[in-house]
Amino acid sequence: MSWHSTSIAQMAKALAAKEVSSAELTQYFLSRIDAGKQWNAYLDVNAHLSLEQAYKADMLISSGKGGALTGIPVAHKDVFVTRGWKTTAASKILEGYLSPFDATVVANLGMPSEDNPNGAGMVCLGKTNMDEFAMGSSNENSGYGPVLNPWNSEYVSGGSSGGSAVAVAAGLAPIATGTDTGGSIRQPAAFCSLTGIKPSYGRVSRYGMIAYASSLDQAGPMGKTSEDCALLLSAMSSHDRRDSTSLADSGEDYGRYLNQSWRAGNTNLAKPLEGLRVGLPKEFFAEGLASEVAQSVNEAAKILENLGAKLIEVSLPKTKLSIPVYYVLAPAEASSNLSRFDGVRFGHRANEYRDLSDMYKKSRTEGFGAEVKRRILIGTYVLCHGYYDAYYLQAQKIRRIIAADFQKAFSQCDVILGPVAPDVAWRLGEKSKDPVQMYLEDIYTLSTNLAGLPAMSVPCGFNKINLPIGMQLIGNYFSEARLLQVAHQYQQASDWHLRQASEVA
Ligand code: GLN
Repeated sequence: MSWHSTSIAQMAKALAAKEVSSAELTQYFLSRIDAGKQWNAYLDVNAHLSLEQAYKADMLISSGKGGALTGIPVAHKDVFVTRGWKTTAASKILEGYLSPFDATVVANLGMPSEDNPNGAGMVCLGKTNMDEFAMGSSNENSGYGPVLNPWNSEYVSGGSSGGSAVAVAAGLAPIATGTDTGGSIRQPAAFCSLTGIKPSYGRVSRYGMIAYASSLDQAGPMGKTSEDCALLLSAMSSHDRRDSTSLADSGEDYGRYLNQSWRAGNTNLAKPLEGLRVGLPKEFFAEGLASEVAQSVNEAAKILENLGAKLIEVSLPKTKLSIPVYYVLAPAEASSNLSRFDGVRFGHRANEYRDLSDMYKKSRTEGFGAEVKRRILIGTYVLCHGYYDAYYLQAQKIRRIIAADFQKAFSQCDVILGPVAPDVAWRLGEKSKDPVQMYLEDIYTLSTNLAGLPAMSVPCGFNKINLPIGMQLIGNYFSEARLLQVAHQYQQASDWHLRQASEVA
């Protein structure tokens, strides 16, 4: 059985029917991780710990105490602190760091225990590579080497959740967690032909998720299908008193609309999306968008139309400003969040130093990579007395306008459709010398984080050299279940998400 091409929805059925045990599944993926080291998708694997969890899961299943996801393996982005596995956020400054507790996301998905009665019982396969502190769009900023794209190993995987994307795309995990501050779930999902969702801000607890830009960070699932993402998100999200921005009513079944038609009472099975208004923002299809990406997204729009949806042109006039706004606000928050890595409380400390301030300076100089240092400098600068009004405050004001523009668009449509990124994956090294080039790649993903809206990436095609293309679906606040429904209906009418990366299939 090729479990790496099986959805977690099918895997759950096989586990319940005793066709396979969690220990067998876990061993299967651990062997694939071992054989697939060349992608550099994982930063820490511990077969002993994973199998220990799998045996526990098998016991839960056989005693009838298993839940929907019990026994299914999952990989976690290395930004979530994890008991047992090292957590580094792909930074040398945290090399070897072992957390004394689990992030809420890890606990929610993990083994149930006295302290964690609601754990879903999934088995942790290990920690996935990422851009250092989630800063990047290609996974070339990892302190532990880039992650290669399994569709073509000369190309980037996308970032910052590139390790999670490649773990699933290369069949080294059935599903994975990611985080998205400005596109880091959606863009690597698009580059590797996966389905991923960044929920509304506040849906998933940020407790134990190493902070990059706290007002933008949000965790979500990366999997093969919309159905799988709905299953994982339902288990990931919960109200958490330890995160002051966690929503009070977050525990919902995000898969509840998957097999329903958009409009209740519609019995026309050929047109399940009748009544759905899909907005196409004209700014998302303007200059800068690769024609092959535009073509695939337009074909996807036609499929939605065939399913009964109505296409409407909408406008998000401040789209271009999302880049300068994000690259002021995110570094500002990062410069503050990363001040805790000082050589005293966590991680790396320089061997030799003259005094305390020299120790800070040397530890941080040695521990942080170039992109992280760049952002700390930018962030510190825009928060300086004298520049604060000109940059930080101005960016905050435009952030409000960007959010208001979305509300205007949502008065005309139910979901917004566009590309995830202006391009497909690029060659390793192609943009690393020019950070601004790299920042421009985030143009279609940043605005949803600035507004706090949910957004998905769904496979919708391939270019001539077989590199994946993703489309983006954006919904209004708390409409995750509806987004997943639209994506699921699209996946019933298309097969892009079923293709497997040829180099590993
Ligand atoms: N590419 C963006 C950045 O470099 C977004 C990263 C993210 O979502 N974590 O900051």
